[in-house]
Amino acid sequence: MKYKRILLKLSGEALMGNQQYGIDSKILQMYAEEIKDVVDKGSEVAIVIGGGNIFRGLSGVATGIDRVQGDYMGMLATVINGMALQSALESIGVKTRLQTAIRMEQVAEPFIKRKAERHLEKGRVVIFGAGTGNPYFTTDTAATLKAIEINAEVILKGTRVDGIYNADPEKDKNAVKFNSISFEEVYQKGLKIMDMTAFTLSQENNLPIIVFDMNKKGNLVKIIEGKEVGTLVTI
Ligand code: UDP
Repeated sequence: MKYKRILLKLSGEALMGNQQYGIDSKILQMYAEEIKDVVDKGSEVAIVIGGGNIFRGLSGVATGIDRVQGDYMGMLATVINGMALQSALESIGVKTRLQTAIRMEQVAEPFIKRKAERHLEKGRVVIFGAGTGNPYFTTDTAATLKAIEINAEVILKGTRVDGIYNADPEKDKNAVKFNSISFEEVYQKGLKIMDMTAFTLSQENNLPIIVFDMNKKGNLVKIIEGKEVGTLVTI
């Protein structure tokens, strides 16, 4: 097995499936099964989930909601998604813990690094909710931060496309995919994979990122086995 401890970043938007809003139960179930497969192989899995399917701070501003207030609403949205994913995982027998960056003891543990690592060692999937707990950040930054804190070997960014291209593959049919690329090249070519805060944090801490298609069955297992899937970003 190539990766023993991974941090999986799932966007909230991906959870919508073809809906305009909210959570598509089929997608949720599929993700839970994919995650179960890697847990069964013996990988330790931590997950950061976004909230874009429910609320984004910046979109709130357009409707008159204060930015900081909106960002906290977005963070709470990630907890809703985390709870949904937790439930989906437990319904198929995967043990989980949800830890949040904003305290809410009735539904989740507070984030405690040592506890999170202990859960992982015991084979429990740890879901981190409420992002970094700070406004003006994103869940990509939260994912990078948590990955570094818990010593994950890699951050796996599940998306709708199967990697990083030299142009948007959903718009340009001549777009070419990179199998691997350096942080420097991503920056120089102006390619977008995560926001700059998350990107530089990852680069400075030598944390590789794999961007891959989470909607393709079996991809997650292939990655932990070391097969070439998606695009690997390294120093
Ligand atoms: N958010 C925040 N701080 C964080 C993480 C998230 O303020 O550390 C807010 C922010 O408003 C963001 C929303 O939560 O728009 C949802 O997260 P994100 O947009 O990263 O979700 P995704 O795009 O992955 O669905």
